[in-house]
Amino acid sequence: MDKKDSRDSSASNAAATPMMAQYIEIKTANPDCLLFYRMGDFYEMFFDDAETASRALGITLTKRGKHRGADIPMCGVPVHAADQYLQKLIALGHRVAVCEQTEDPTEAKKRGSKAVVQRDVVRLVTPGTLTEDALLAPGRNNYLAAVSRQKAGTDEPDRFGIAWIDISTGEFRLAGSDSGRLAADLARIDPREALVPEPVFSDPELGAFWRGLEMAVTPLAPALFDSTTAADRLAAYFGVATLDGFGHFSRPETSAAAAILAYVEKTQIGERPPLVPPVAETADGVMLIDAATRANLELNQTLAGERRGSLIAAIDRTVTGAGARLLAQRLAGPSTSPNEIANRLDAVAFFLSDQGLTASVRDQLAAAPDITRALSRLALNRGGPRDLAAIRDGLAVASQLAGQLAGEGRPSAIAQAIEGLSAGPDELVAELTRALADDLPHLRRDGGFVRDGYRDDLDEARKLRDESRRFIASLQSRYADEAGIRALKVKHNNVLGYFVEVSAAHAERMLQPPLNGRFIHRQTMANAVRFSTTELGELEAKIAGAAGRALAIESTVFDTLVDTIATEADAIRQVGVGLATIDVSAALAVLAEAEGYCRPIVDDSMAFTIEGGRHPVVEQALRTAGETFVANDCALGPEGADDAGHIWLVTGPNMAGKSTFLRQNALIAILAQVGSYVPARDARIGIVDRLFSRVGAADDLARGRSTFMVEMVETAAILNQAGPRSLVILDEIGRGTATFDGLSIAWAAIEHLHEVNRSRALFATHYHELTALADRLPRLRNVTVRVKEWEGDVIFLHEIAPGAADRSYGIQVAKLAGLPASVVARARAVLTQLEETDRQSPVQTLIDDLPLFSVARASPAETRDVDPVADLLDTVRPDELAPRDALEMLYKLKALSHRA
Ligand code: ATP
Repeated sequence: MDKKDSRDSSASNAAATPMMAQYIEIKTANPDCLLFYRMGDFYEMFFDDAETASRALGITLTKRGKHRGADIPMCGVPVHAADQYLQKLIALGHRVAVCEQTEDPTEAKKRGSKAVVQRDVVRLVTPGTLTEDALLAPGRNNYLAAVSRQKAGTDEPDRFGIAWIDISTGEFRLAGSDSGRLAADLARIDPREALVPEPVFSDPELGAFWRGLEMAVTPLAPALFDSTTAADRLAAYFGVATLDGFGHFSRPETSAAAAILAYVEKTQIGERPPLVPPVAETADGVMLIDAATRANLELNQTLAGERRGSLIAAIDRTVTGAGARLLAQRLAGPSTSPNEIANRLDAVAFFLSDQGLTASVRDQLAAAPDITRALSRLALNRGGPRDLAAIRDGLAVASQLAGQLAGEGRPSAIAQAIEGLSAGPDELVAELTRALADDLPHLRRDGGFVRDGYRDDLDEARKLRDESRRFIASLQSRYADEAGIRALKVKHNNVLGYFVEVSAAHAERMLQPPLNGRFIHRQTMANAVRFSTTELGELEAKIAGAAGRALAIESTVFDTLVDTIATEADAIRQVGVGLATIDVSAALAVLAEAEGYCRPIVDDSMAFTIEGGRHPVVEQALRTAGETFVANDCALGPEGADDAGHIWLVTGPNMAGKSTFLRQNALIAILAQVGSYVPARDARIGIVDRLFSRVGAADDLARGRSTFMVEMVETAAILNQAGPRSLVILDEIGRGTATFDGLSIAWAAIEHLHEVNRSRALFATHYHELTALADRLPRLRNVTVRVKEWEGDVIFLHEIAPGAADRSYGIQVAKLAGLPASVVARARAVLTQLEETDRQSPVQTLIDDLPLFSVARASPAETRDVDPVADLLDTVRPDELAPRDALEMLYKLKALSHRA
C-alpha cells in the first residue's frame, strides 16, 4: 500500500473490523515497509503489500473479507519458513516490518470475544541490518554505512564522513572522505545499504551518484545526522562520558556514526546489537581502488557478475566464514604500510615453513563455528541453543590452537593472534559444556537443550513429565483389557489432548453401560470413535504442568548463559579475530605452496620490478585446460636519480595477451599489499597508494552512458587523480570512437601521464603509431607481445619483449574465430589498400611536427589560449629551412589558421 492509500484507509478505520483497523494503524506507521502481520503460524500481508509480495515470492494471492466494499487481497508465508521469503524480498530491494503478537491470545479473549490480540512491530528487516544465518553469506560482511556531508567553500571539495557497521559481527568503523574519493571509499566498504541525509540524497549534483551505486540507498531525516548532538548520542550509546577514549573523530564522521546508531535503534526496536566502540581508519592506510577499477580487475566478481573467475575465488583457501570475511576485507583495502605488510607476510612464511602444523591447524579451524555471528544473534535476542554451542565449540578450538601455536620467536602477527585465541574464558566453555545437551534444537522454545543433571529442579520436572507419559502408555493395555477391545489405542492430538480411540465397529460397546460410565464420548469419525477418561485428563494436566515448568527452567538457564556470554563479549570477539587471522595466514600459505608463489618485497621505494609474473586467475584456468601460462617480467620503477615511474606501451596482435599482462601486474601489486605471496619468481614493489585501471569497453546504459562516454569518464578520473605513487593500467584507450579521434586522445593521455601524473603505468594499444612517442618521452618503453606467423596463420607466444608491433593480425584472429572465408579474403584486400593509403597518412607528419607536450601548456589557464599557429612557428628555424620546406610550412600555417 502506498502512503496515500494507507492514509485513505486509516481515515475509514471506523468501518473496518477491529483486526483490520489494527493492521491499518500499524501499516500507516510503517509506510515504506512490507508489513509481515503475525496471525497464528503465518505472517500475513494485505492490500498492495499482498500483491507486491505474491508477485515477488510467487505465492498465491487470496482474499480476506472486505474493506470499503472491495475484497481485501491477502497472502501469507509460514513463520517457520519466513527466513527464506525474507531473503528473497530483501534481495529484491524491499524492506520488511515484522509485526508479532505481543500477548497470549487467551489474554485477549478475556477482554471479550471480539477483542484483538495486541500486536507490535518488533523489527524492521533491511539489507544492512541482517543477522540470521539463512540471510547472510558466511564469507561476506554485511555492512550498513552512513554518509554525512560537510559543505566546503566554493573552491574546496566537500568533506564527507562515513560510518559503517556489521551488526552480525559487531564491527564499527569510521573514515573521513571527500568528494574526490567518496566513490572509491564506498566501493571499498561495499555496504549492502547506505544511509544518507535527505538533502544530500536529493542534491541534484549527487543524484546520479547515488543512483549509480550498487547498494540500497536509504534517505533519512537530517535531524538524525545533527552534528551538534551527535557526540552526545554516540557517547550515550556506549555509556561513556566522552568519546576521547575512542580516538579523535571529525564532525562528519561523528554525525555519520550517530545516524547509523539511530537507524539501528529504529530498525532493531529496543534490541541493541553488541557493537564495538568505533575505530577510525586513516584515509591513507589503504590502497585506494575505485569501483570501476575493482570491476575491471574482477576482484570480487567477474564482469558477468559471477564469483567464479574472480581474483577472490582464485586465492581464497580459507576454511572459516570469519577467515573468508577478513581476506575479503584485506583485498578490498590492501595495506599501504610496509611494516604491516611485512608482518602479514611473516605470518604466511611461518605456516609455509611447517606444513604438518598448517594442515592440523586448518582441520581444527574447519570445525570451529562462527562465534562472532553467534554472539551478535544472542545479544540481539535472536539466538538459539545452537548459538550457545557455537560459542562453546569455537572457544574450545581457540584455546586448543593457542596451545598448539605457542612457542618462542613467533612472528608478531602470529603472537598477536595467539593472544586473541587465549582470551577466551575457560570457565565459560566449562559451564556451557556442563549445561548443554548433546542434541540441540534450533529454537529455545522447543526445550530439551539443557543436559540432564545440570539442575535438580529441571530433572524433577522432566521426571514427572516422563513418568506420566510412561504411565499413559501403560494405560493402553489396561483399558484394552477392561473394555475387552484389543485394538483400543491411547493417542494424542492438539485439540483433544490424550484420548482413547476404538474402531467404529467397537464403538457400540463403549457407549453402553458399564463402559460408558468410564469412557466419555468425545468425537465420532468416519472409521473411529474417540473417548476421554478423568484419569487421562488428570495425567495430561500433570504432564502439561511439568513440561511447562521444565521449559521455564530451561529458559532461565538460557538467559543466564546468554548473560554470562554478554559479559565476555569483548574476549569472545578477540578470539574471533584471532581465529580469522590464523585462518587467513594459513590459507595464504596453502595458496603460496600450491600455486608456487613467491614472497614479495614491499617497501617505501618507487620500485616496480616483477620477474616471471603470472596472472593468478588465467594461470589456474589454463592449468585446468592442460595448458601452461607464459611468465613475463615488468619493470616500471624509476631509474637513476629520476623519481618518476616508467610507462610501458604494450602493442601486439589481438589475442596475444596484452590485457592479461596489464591485469596481472595490477593483481600482483594488490596481492603483495594484501600481505600475500604473489604469482611471480621475484617481486619488489614500492607501495602503491592508488590503483587505477581502465580495461575493456562496457556500456553503462543504466546510468545513461555510452561505451565511449564510460571510457572517457574513467580516463578523466585517472588523468585528474593519479600521482607518482599510483599504478595506472590503461587498456585500449580511445577505441570507442573514430580512429583519429581515438589516436589523438590516446596520444595526449600518454603525454599527460608521463609529464603530469608521473605514475608507474602500463598502456596497451592497437594504435601502433603511438610507439613513435618513445623517441620523445624518455620514460616510455615500447614492448610487444611476440607472435610467430606460419603459413598465413598466427601463433601466439604470449612473450613480452622490447619493441613495437607493426601490425595487429586482426584478420588472422578473425579467421581463427571462424569468419566466412569470403569475408576474410575481402578484408585482406581492403587492408592492403588501406595500408597503401596509410603510408601517405598525416600521422607521420604529426609525429615529426607536433610540438612537445609541456606541463606548462597543460595547465588550465594556458590550455584555454593555445595557439597552434604560434606553436608551430616556435619550432621553425628559418635559417635551416630549404625553400621547398618553407613553402610546405606556409601551407601548414594557412591550414592551421583556417582551423583556428
Ligand atoms: P585483444 O587485443 O584482442 O583484446 P589481448 O592481447 O588483450 O587481446 P588477452 O585477452 O590478454 O589478449 O589474452 C587472450 C588469451 O590468451 C587469454 O584468454 C589467455 O587464454 C591467453 N593468454 C594471455 N596471456 C597468456 C600467457 N602469458 N600465457 C599463456 N596464455 C596467455
